[in-house]
Amino acid sequence: MAKKQTPMMEQYQRVKDQYPDAFLFYRLGDFYEMFNDDAVKGAQLLELTLTSRSKSKDNPIPMCGVPHRAVDNYIDILIDKGYKVAICEQMEDPKTTKGMVKREVTRLVTPGTTMDLSGEAAKQNNYLTALSKGDSGYNLAYTDLSTGELKVTSVDSEAGALNELINLQTREVVTEEEVAPSLDKALTQRNILRSVQLQVLNQAEVAYLTQDLTNQGQQRVVALLVSYLLTTQKRSLAHLQRAVAYQLSSFMKIDHRSKVNLELMTNLRSGKRQGTLAWLLDETKTAMGSRLLKQWLDRPLLDQDKIERRYDRVQELLDHYFERQNLQEELIKVYDLERLAGRVAYGSINGRDLIQLKTSLQQVPKIKYILQTLDVPAFDGLEQALDPMEDVATLIDRAIAPEPPISVTDGGVINDGYNHQLDEYRNAMQNGKHWIAQLQEKERQETGINNLKIGYNHVFGYYIEVTKANVAKLPADRYERKQTLVNAERFATPELKEKETLILGAQDKSTALEYELFVKVREAVKEQIDRLQKLAANLAGLDVLQAFAKVAEDYHFVRPELNHDHRLKIEKGRHPVVEKFMGHQEYVPNDVLMGDQTSILLITGPNMSGKSTYMRQLALTAVMAQMGCFVPAQRAQLPIFDQIFTRIGAADDLVSGESTFMVEMMEANNALQNATKDSLILFDEIGRGTATYDGMALAQAIIEFVHNRVGAKTLFSTHYHELTALDAELDQLKNVHVGATEENGELVFLHKVTPGPADKSYGIHVAKLAGMPHPLLKRANQILTDLEGQAEVKPKPVSQEKKPVIPVKEKEPAPLLQEDNGQLELFATKPQGNQSSKADKIAHQVKNLDLMSMTPMDVMNQVFKWQQSLK
Ligand code: ADP
Repeated sequence: MAKKQTPMMEQYQRVKDQYPDAFLFYRLGDFYEMFNDDAVKGAQLLELTLTSRSKSKDNPIPMCGVPHRAVDNYIDILIDKGYKVAICEQMEDPKTTKGMVKREVTRLVTPGTTMDLSGEAAKQNNYLTALSKGDSGYNLAYTDLSTGELKVTSVDSEAGALNELINLQTREVVTEEEVAPSLDKALTQRNILRSVQLQVLNQAEVAYLTQDLTNQGQQRVVALLVSYLLTTQKRSLAHLQRAVAYQLSSFMKIDHRSKVNLELMTNLRSGKRQGTLAWLLDETKTAMGSRLLKQWLDRPLLDQDKIERRYDRVQELLDHYFERQNLQEELIKVYDLERLAGRVAYGSINGRDLIQLKTSLQQVPKIKYILQTLDVPAFDGLEQALDPMEDVATLIDRAIAPEPPISVTDGGVINDGYNHQLDEYRNAMQNGKHWIAQLQEKERQETGINNLKIGYNHVFGYYIEVTKANVAKLPADRYERKQTLVNAERFATPELKEKETLILGAQDKSTALEYELFVKVREAVKEQIDRLQKLAANLAGLDVLQAFAKVAEDYHFVRPELNHDHRLKIEKGRHPVVEKFMGHQEYVPNDVLMGDQTSILLITGPNMSGKSTYMRQLALTAVMAQMGCFVPAQRAQLPIFDQIFTRIGAADDLVSGESTFMVEMMEANNALQNATKDSLILFDEIGRGTATYDGMALAQAIIEFVHNRVGAKTLFSTHYHELTALDAELDQLKNVHVGATEENGELVFLHKVTPGPADKSYGIHVAKLAGMPHPLLKRANQILTDLEGQAEVKPKPVSQEKKPVIPVKEKEPAPLLQEDNGQLELFATKPQGNQSSKADKIAHQVKNLDLMSMTPMDVMNQVFKWQQSLK
């Protein structure tokens, strides 16, 4: 039988039932309390003391609480860990209410809707995403509640949806019902919270926000997202922008693993921003600019005109140093307009925010002027689009005090001279103060107490304070005791009380009127949110362009020359981040030369010589070029890449628990299945994760596949020396190597990429560099010499594709394959001399047969050959 509960716990339970998946913070006086399971889990997560509410031992109710003043910190901790928090407030004043105080949830804070934007978070977007199944694939909508951005797209598969969710770094996904179990699992693994919104609302807001969309599935997913916000946020969404549909196919596609590999946003080792491309490029001056730069980095463009327009502007800013300096100085003074707009809509803006808004707006005419002096068509549209919103700036300037307090309810926010009535109240207060000063003087003279003083506090109001030593001197009649301190007594007199009423009356009226006026100003600004958001977007764009100009100047980047005919020619290219860490002197620039007839560069060279740096360098250059930035080279002719695929480094995907080799194969497979002739593929030492023959066989097959069927521009680095012979067979493949020389037995890296294959592998030299013991190195050298004497590994002849997609030019057959003289395909023995008998030869071959790398069919074939040759 259920135990009878107190009325309060009954109320608690009623509210809690509505928010089963959230921590319920239940306001009790100065605390927010958690009960039952919430309390047990909350105490653990927040390191609070767990107590018990009920006095009876057999029915204890676990409880813990946080002080209401510090609640934000606790909320942030829970949100960070991926939980939701429902804030349940007292809706009546407990002092004046009989019986149970009414309580309601006023806000549901979730990872996707949190507005904690201090520190680094200010430079990041926090996206909430909604996902729904469409006719084919998924529809996906996202919003950043603090900026009001609202976008929607469609993806064709579950993998595509997941990739986009991860790219957006979304922390919460809203769905209508259960999603595919595999997707659910992937979300859980990545600590992405899934929230269910069963009801799709049909309110005016929804209709407005979806009005520009033509696709029904997209309309529905936006409606779902907005419905979730309307149900959970319980506050104005006036700043949400009408949903804009985008197509992933209009941007360069880089899957999320490749983005991680290329360290675009996060450093592979530290997980931080330092050492990434975003870190290098982010010379923006505003938080909006910084966020936009990340969006551009996340979605490089495909449209040559759009890219060139960015180049034109960067070039202009690069050429006009002083104008650029001025522009930067103005931009520094621009605050985060997007988020200010959000706060206006929420009604959470204060006087200081409005002053920030005004200061920001006041920079706009100066910025327009700078753009006009540049006097080039490049900035025409942009300059005109910058709306200085003088009406708003003037209103704030007139109404709001230059240095207002944070609180908007305690007065001091509105300027003198803005409102006649307010000025009158203020006069009364001012006179009152003057009068108090006079009264103090009068009392001093009448009592002869020179240190008598009149003060004020919130509890007791105005008082006359006299030290204990002097109390005896006071006349008994007028002085009424109010408060006793250690060394002094405080009194009131009828005269003081009368003036107090007047002064405090004026003060109350004044603060109430100030708040009223403040709200009016806020509402007037709210009317203009649309314009504010447009202005913010334009300034953000300008900020990113000036950042590009600055990095172009600082690091000597050049304007890329784009083409559509697969010509890739980079002269003296550099890896911008590695270079920055090294200083300009030491970095060895390298060319990447791939004409329209070259699809694969096969890169050899010792470990640590710079192969993967060379590959990453090209990928970063391509990304930079297509985001509208200049690139680290002396000259760069680039095709526009539709996608970039990478298989770099040996990072285990710890999150999904896949092994290194499996990840390697999956990434390679993704590239092989999806790349086109317009794509860029980077394969770093493919096949390394498995046995030698196995790995080499795979590597060769992959090269052939790319060469014959895909045709993407591909950089393929390998430690399988033997593969360099492939250039005789595959006419779109070129060998290059990263140079190293030996000086006095020491290996010296040159970091210079030159045509042709490397002469050897230098693995033992690198081991020596790493400090391995001398006897071990000596032994390794011995073994190497023996092995080299014994056998030579050669690649299998190139398979004959029936119909290569790219026509292969007829070439002299390479002397690689010598099947006809009876040698094995995979490991040709060194010629034994013509005199050896057939039997000897076969015996030798049998001895060396590597059964483990052969299929039963291979063995059958081989035995058949031997039979034939013995007949
Ligand atoms: P690999 O892939 O051949 O093992 P990496 O590309 O990882 O080698 O390069 C190893 C190190 O060599 C890098 O960390 C960098 O310090 C240095 N390096 C690479 N390329 C260059 C270059 N072009 N100029 C100067 N130093 C370089």
